[in-house]
Amino acid sequence: MIKAKKSLGQNFLIDKNILEKIVNAANISNKTILEIGPGTGNLTSYILKKNPKKMFVIEKDNDLARNLENKFHNQITIINDDVLKLDETKLFKEEVTVFGNLPYNISTEILCKWIINLKDKFWFKSLVLMFQKEVADRIVAEFNTSKYGRLSVICNWKLNIKKICDVKPEAFLPKPKIDSSLLLFYPKKNFIKIDDPVNLEKVTKVFFNQRRKMLKKPFHQLFNGDQKVLDKLKIDLNLRPQNLSLDTYYKLTSEYERLRN
Ligand code: SAM
Repeated sequence: MIKAKKSLGQNFLIDKNILEKIVNAANISNKTILEIGPGTGNLTSYILKKNPKKMFVIEKDNDLARNLENKFHNQITIINDDVLKLDETKLFKEEVTVFGNLPYNISTEILCKWIINLKDKFWFKSLVLMFQKEVADRIVAEFNTSKYGRLSVICNWKLNIKKICDVKPEAFLPKPKIDSSLLLFYPKKNFIKIDDPVNLEKVTKVFFNQRRKMLKKPFHQLFNGDQKVLDKLKIDLNLRPQNLSLDTYYKLTSEYERLRN
């Protein structure tokens, strides 16, 4: 009997309908698949039933990794490591489809790492990921809403995002205290060019630092009050950070880069 470790965010999925929904969210047959945090292998089994070409899993827990080895033998390649330490851009020869019922304590850190590390080429075809509902709501939030913020701006830069469904605590064992949501991400064909995504992190950090205050202070901090930028992007400094659209943040970041070069 496996005892779930709270420190590793272990809530194992047991609801068959949700497991089906997850594996039906993206093409698996004859594709290379990566699963983050396979745990006891419930989702892994559902993925394998759909005949992937190759399947990799990354699991930090040594006991669970050993257990997966015994359960699946050579059907999967197990990477017994911390997903936050790996460089996925170098791991795979072809684009992979990623599945993950993510450990909630590091879910945004994982996603932001992947986005910030995106270079010219995408290393994944799509991501099918489970988040706390509250986090998923912030990821998909529209501008002019209270949930819109850094996470929405960073995640929507190069990715299209679709909510597949909300998931009740009863779908997991042990039962978490909160609702969850399943999201699908896939690469955008067109996006506003930013040379170094770290600058998108920086710009959004300064702007959303005081989300109830007007834009004057963060704009002065980053652009020294440059009127040309304000005119070009048609920004009214009396607005608040949540009133600027996604594209305005991407354009602001590329202006920030232009002025620093
Ligand atoms: N996929 C399984 C399921 O749906 O039943 C388990 C999901 S559970 C929410 C999260 C899993 O991620 C656990 O197995 C946990 O050990 C693993 N994990 C936690 N932190 C990790 C990390 N930094 N790197 C890789 N795996 C991690």
